[in-house]
Amino acid sequence: MQNKTYKVKGMHCASCASIIERTVKKIDGVQEISVNTGTESAKISYDESKTNPESLNTKLESLGYSLIIPVARTVLATGKSEKLAELRDMKIKIISAIPLAVISVFVMTWDILAQFKTQYSMPLVWEEFFHHLLPLMATYMLFVVGKPYLQGFYRFLKTGKANMDTLIGLGTSVAYFYSFMVGAFEETLLKDFPNVGVTYFDVTIIVITFIALGKYLETRSKLKTGDAIEKLLNLQAKTALVIRDGKEIEISVNEVVHGDIIIIKPGAKIPVDGTIVEGNSFVDESMVTGEPMPAKKNIGDNVVAGTINTTGTFNFKATKVGGETLLAQIIKMVEEAQSSKAPIQALADKISAIFVPIVLVIAFITLGAWLFFASGPLGFSQALSYGLMCFVGVLVIACPCALGLATPTAIIVGVGKGAKEGILIKDAATLEKLHKVDTVIVDKTGTITIGKPTLVDIELAGKGRSFGTSLRTVLEEPEIEFISIIASLEKKSEHPIANAIVNYAVENKIKIEEISNFENIEGKGIRGTVNGIEYFVGNVKMIKDLGINFNATKIEQYTMQGKTPVILATKMEVIGFLTVADEIKTESKQAITDLHKLGIKVIMLTGDDEKAGKYMASLVGIDEVVAHVMPADKLAKIKELQNNGRVVAMAGDGVNDAPALAQADVGIAMGTGTDVAIESAGITLLHGDISKLVKAIKLSKITMRGIKQNLFWAFIYNIVGIPLAAGLFYPIFGWLLNPVFAGLAMAFSSVSVVSNSLRIKVKKL
Ligand code: ADP
Ligand code: MG
Repeated sequence: MQNKTYKVKGMHCASCASIIERTVKKIDGVQEISVNTGTESAKISYDESKTNPESLNTKLESLGYSLIIPVARTVLATGKSEKLAELRDMKIKIISAIPLAVISVFVMTWDILAQFKTQYSMPLVWEEFFHHLLPLMATYMLFVVGKPYLQGFYRFLKTGKANMDTLIGLGTSVAYFYSFMVGAFEETLLKDFPNVGVTYFDVTIIVITFIALGKYLETRSKLKTGDAIEKLLNLQAKTALVIRDGKEIEISVNEVVHGDIIIIKPGAKIPVDGTIVEGNSFVDESMVTGEPMPAKKNIGDNVVAGTINTTGTFNFKATKVGGETLLAQIIKMVEEAQSSKAPIQALADKISAIFVPIVLVIAFITLGAWLFFASGPLGFSQALSYGLMCFVGVLVIACPCALGLATPTAIIVGVGKGAKEGILIKDAATLEKLHKVDTVIVDKTGTITIGKPTLVDIELAGKGRSFGTSLRTVLEEPEIEFISIIASLEKKSEHPIANAIVNYAVENKIKIEEISNFENIEGKGIRGTVNGIEYFVGNVKMIKDLGINFNATKIEQYTMQGKTPVILATKMEVIGFLTVADEIKTESKQAITDLHKLGIKVIMLTGDDEKAGKYMASLVGIDEVVAHVMPADKLAKIKELQNNGRVVAMAGDGVNDAPALAQADVGIAMGTGTDVAIESAGITLLHGDISKLVKAIKLSKITMRGIKQNLFWAFIYNIVGIPLAAGLFYPIFGWLLNPVFAGLAMAFSSVSVVSNSLRIKVKKL
C-alpha cells in the first residue's frame, strides 16, 4: 500500500474536490483519497500492484484535472512555479478584460439612467455603435477570458459532472446565446414580442470579469497562505563541501551520504545533521531552539541542518541525510498538517458536494416559475427576459467557491504561523481540538522546572550542615564517604536526580566505586551493594517500605522549601540524606498566569513528594498538584478528568510519557533543541518552552474563529443571494438582482474569505 500526496492541477473549487474524490475512490486499487482545496493537493493511498499515479492521472485528465507527479522530494513546493505562470496568464487576461467591462458598465448605467428619465437617451449613432461592439466584446470574453468556465460547461454536457465552472459557464453562455439569438432575429421577434429587444451581453462581459478578477486575487492570496513552507525550504542548504578521496569537493546536498565528512566554513549553512569531529565554533541554532545566542559547539557535539555557522571552522560527520534530518521532518510535518482536513470541514464538504446539482435544479425551477407565473401579468417576452436574468443570477451567485476555501486556507495559515513560532502541529484535527482544551496537565521536572537539579544540602544522622546554593563548602571526611556511596549507586540510574549527584561527585573528585545487585525501585529510588553492604537510596516512601523507625520532621522542613530529599539507608537504619533542588524556568509563572486568563485549569503531576510539589506549584500559581504519581497513574488521572467531561492537554517530555500523551485529547511534546521526537505527539513545542503552549492555544482559538467567520461569510452569500437572485422578492418588494451584482458578490465572497484567513498571519499570539 502506497500513501502519497500529489499536487492537483485544474482545481477551482470545493465541488472539484468532491468530484475528484468520488471518481478516484471508484478506481480499483484506490483505498483512500482526500483532496484539499487550500493546498490543491490530493492524499491518496493505493495498492501499487493494482494501479499507479500515471493511470489515476489519465482518469482525471478526462475530467479536466491532472496530478503533478513530482520528481523532487518535497511535493507541495513543486507546484509553485507553475502557479506563478498561471497567475501571470490570469493577469494578462484580466488586464484585457477591464476596459471592456468599463465600457459595458458605462452603457449599462446610461441605459438605466435613461429609463428613469434622468438622462437623455443615447444618441442614435452611439447606440448603433455599441449595439455592434457589445456582441464582439462578449464573444472575446466568453471564448478567451471565460474559456475555463466554458470548458466546465462542456465537460458537464459530456460527463454529467458539474463544478463551479459549470455554473458560471452555463450562466454566462446562456446570457450570451440568448442575446445573440435576440440580436439576430430582432426584426421578426419584435413583431410578436415587443419587449424582447433587451440583450445581456453586458452580463456576460461583467460577470466574467468579476469572476476572473476574484479568481486572480484569490490565487494570489492563496500563494501567500503557504509561504511558511517556502521559508522553511529556504533554510535548506543547496550544496555541501565534503571530503572524498582526500579531496574537498562541493556536491549537491542530496548526494551527501551517511559518514561523509563535511567542511563548514565561517558563515556557512549546515547542510545535514551530524556530529563534529574536528574544530569548534558557535552555531546559530535559533531555528530549532529559539535561542538567539549562537551555541558553542565542540568535538562530539551535534549540529543540525538549516542552522548557521558563525565565525569558526569545523568538520562534521553526517549522521542524518536527506529526509532524515530534523529540518526535513519539520517540513514534511508542516506540509502534511497543512493539507490535512479539519473535522469542521466535513460539513462544508458535504454541502458543496450536493450544492452544484441542487443549484442547477433551483436555476431551472426559477426559469420555469418565471415563465409559468409571470407570463400572464408581464407578458411572455418580459417573463422570459426576467426569468433568464434570474436563471443566470442564481447560477452565478450560488458558487460554493468560498465555502471550499473557508477551512483549508485558515488551516494553512494557522499551521504555518505555528511553525514559525516553533509550534509544530501534526494535523488540522489537533489544531481544531486544541481550542476546546480546558485542562492542561504538566510534568514538574523539565516542564515547569529546568529539569537539571543540583545538590543543595547534606544532613548526616545527628549532625547537620547546609551546603547553601553555592556548593563551595569544604566537605568533611564522613560527608565525602556518604556522597561517595550514593554517587556509586546513582551511577547506574538515569534519573535526573542521579545525574545531579554523580556530576557533583565527579566535579569534586569524590570516588565512585563498583557496585553490585543494582535495582530500580520504581517511583521510590534504587538499591545496590557497595563493599558488601546493601544500601537503599530514595524518598520517604522507600524508607517507610523498609519499615525503619524514622522521624521525618527534619526532612519535611526541606520539602516545604521545594527541595527533594534523597535518603541513604541500610536495611536497618537511616544514615543521612541530602537534598537536591531544581530551578523553576523563568517563563513558567507567566505561562501559568496566561493559561488561567484563557480559563484553563493547570494540574501538575510529579513523582516527587507532595510537599515539595505543592511548594513548587505555589511559586508558579498552579491550581492542583498530584504527587507520588507512578507513570501508570498519569494515564489514569487523564482518563478520570476526561470522564468528568474535561478536554485535556498533556505536556510531557515525550519520551516516557508516550502513553499519557496518546490518551490526552491533545498530547504536547516538549522537544528541546536538537532531540525532537516529532512523531510522538499532536503538537511539538520545538523550544521546549511552556509559554509556547499558551501561544499554541491562542493560535488554535484564532484559527477556529477565522474558520467560523469564513464559513459564515461563505454561507450567508448563498443563503441570502439565491432567493434574491431567483427573484423571490420581486412580487413583494419589486427587487430583482442584476446578475452583474451576483458576479460581484461571488467574487467578493472568495476574496474576503481568503483575506480573512491571511489576517490570522498578523494576529498577535
Ligand atoms: P519523577 O520523574 O517525577 O521524579 P519518578 O517516578 O521517576 O518521578 O520518581 C519518583 C521519586 O522517586 C523521585 O521524586 C525521587 O524522590 C525518587 N527517586 C526515583 N529515582 C531515584 C533515584 N535514582 N535516586 C533517588 N531518588 C529517586
Ligand atoms: Mg521520571
